[in-house]
Amino acid sequence: MLDADFFRRWMTATAASVDREAERLTALDSAIGDADHGSNMQRGFAAVRTTLENEAPDTPGAVLMLSGRQLISTVGGASGPLYGTLLRRTGKALGEAAEVGEEQLAEALRAGVQGVMKLGGAAPGDKTMVDALLPAVEALGNGFGAAREAAEKGAEDTVPLLARKGRASYLGERSIGHQDPGATSSALLIAALAETAEG
Ligand code: ADP
Ligand code: MG
Ligand code: MG
Repeated sequence: MLDADFFRRWMTATAASVDREAERLTALDSAIGDADHGSNMQRGFAAVRTTLENEAPDTPGAVLMLSGRQLISTVGGASGPLYGTLLRRTGKALGEAAEVGEEQLAEALRAGVQGVMKLGGAAPGDKTMVDALLPAVEALGNGFGAAREAAEKGAEDTVPLLARKGRASYLGERSIGHQDPGATSSALLIAALAETAEG
């Protein structure tokens, strides 16, 4: 079973990963966006880390809802409200239980991804974070390692796609041939989950 501490460690591991990969995320965003995805993610997850230290929410749901709220209030870019919605919806779906099972987490994350799709209007194949998140959620039934692999593959598979949502869509055909920054950070989020589960 996964407790509040597990979810705190997941968020902290994501913050560390985003710090390590910030330059890469920004480089990807400079090719098809406005070169701020690395700094957006860093600022957001640094705020998440600080808030979790100060407020110590005591259920999995509360950890994710608080984290989502922080992302929404600290990240100005499109990714802030989208990741914020992902975590808040997932947290809400987990309810007030002190511990949750893997299956429950998989279902809650599915609700979270649906929230992202509803808010941003992106479908699979539109070259967004959805292209990493949705395969990850679908693979989670086969374990955290499978989810990580699916997210990484989903992110890589955005390279040949034409962007239909977000800033990259302004480029039309010129968005083809580049990996989507948000799908790449989503793969980091899922990799951090797998890393946390592996201990
Ligand atoms: P901004 O584009 O406002 O500068 P970021 O650079 O932080 O924000 O995030 C860009 C990423 O957000 C994109 O790579 C894409 O994955 C994701 N994104 C943008 N718009 C949408 C949308 N409508 N639905 C889903 N994801 C989106
Ligand atoms: Mg950007
Ligand atoms: Mg921006």
